[in-house]
Amino acid sequence: MSILVIAETRNGELKKASLSAVTCAKILAEKTGLNYNILTFEPSEKAKEELSQLGAEKVFVAKGEHLKNYTAENYAIAVSEIAKKVDAKYILATATTFGKDLLPRLVSKIPNSAMISEVIEVIDAETFKKLVYAGDIISTLKIKSEKKILSVRGTAFDKAGKVDKKSDVVEEEIKENYTRKRFITLEETKSERPELTEASIVVSVGRGIKDPENIKIVEELADVLGAAIGASRAVVDAGWLPNDFQVGQTGKTVAPQLYIAIGISGAIQHVAGMKDSKVIVAINKDPEAPIFQIADIGLVADLFQVVPELTQKLKKLKQESAG
Ligand SMILES: Cc1cc2nc3c(=O)[nH]c(=O)nc-3n(C[C@H](O)[C@H](O)[C@H](O)COP(=O)(O)OP(=O)(O)OC[C@H]3O[C@@H](n4cnc5c(N)ncnc54)[C@H](O)[C@@H]3O)c2cc1C
Repeated sequence: MSILVIAETRNGELKKASLSAVTCAKILAEKTGLNYNILTFEPSEKAKEELSQLGAEKVFVAKGEHLKNYTAENYAIAVSEIAKKVDAKYILATATTFGKDLLPRLVSKIPNSAMISEVIEVIDAETFKKLVYAGDIISTLKIKSEKKILSVRGTAFDKAGKVDKKSDVVEEEIKENYTRKRFITLEETKSERPELTEASIVVSVGRGIKDPENIKIVEELADVLGAAIGASRAVVDAGWLPNDFQVGQTGKTVAPQLYIAIGISGAIQHVAGMKDSKVIVAINKDPEAPIFQIADIGLVADLFQVVPELTQKLKKLKQESAG
């Protein structure tokens, strides 16, 4: 018996969010005495190297023409085949969009399995804590089924670091191909900025920005800080920024070193996606805005005045330190 962690790649590169699931697997390994293996798809040489340094028993790379692009059906077939091979009692992935899409499908493929989503703590071999109601309540759940499938809340576990021992990387050809659904194309938002869930600084914009034209004020601040841009759902629903910028319960979960919320009220559904950030700065003209309850630093001010000022000051500081 063993533990199987699914590691996500994007354009071949390892998604750092997957390292949280590896940490969760290490905790489970300590509690159960089982080894953990890692399974990935389409990794670059660099990603293989990184994965081989995470203390896994083995790193499996699932191969097949039909696995070059993600579909939940074909990836679930591959995961269940490797899970069978390593006799996986636990299957884990971080609860990214990929993990949230893939794992529930595994429950229907793997007999005698059950799943808990967004695990934040491992209590024992069967018992786990998870957040419910947008993070307002913590519930403790037990899985009695033999096979346990867990999506792991990325911000609740540190990212696993390198170990000295190197794992073998093994390629596994997966023949079975689900043909009733077919990958056609992937349209990605291309950006020079860091990826939202991996950035160490996130500058997020809310409805207070009033007009999509004004978002450039926030972009200028993000660029001087080397930050990713996030948004509240109000901004995304208005069509001012694409869906994949949304932070919150129905968007992405982030926990950067610094989160700057600009013109965001701090609704519970937004806070659910960013409250684990190390330092939270809020800029809002309403002193009663709920965002100030969780902010480490709050600025009651008109964003149209203070954000450009802040950008100018940071630019000047950068120039001074460069010169
Ligand atoms: C099931 C469900 C899921 C949801 N999921 C999400 C989610 O994932 N993410 C999410 O964000 N929301 C989510 N929501 C929506 C959420 O409830 C809020 O409606 C949304 O977060 C509000 O966005 P906002 O803070 O940008 O807008 P508002 O609540 O309208 O806040 C705008 C803020 O800007 C401030 N402001 C205005 N002008 C200025 C100015 N000139 N200078 C400074 N400050 C200014 C105002 O004081 C105000 O606080 C969800 C809701 C539901 C029901």
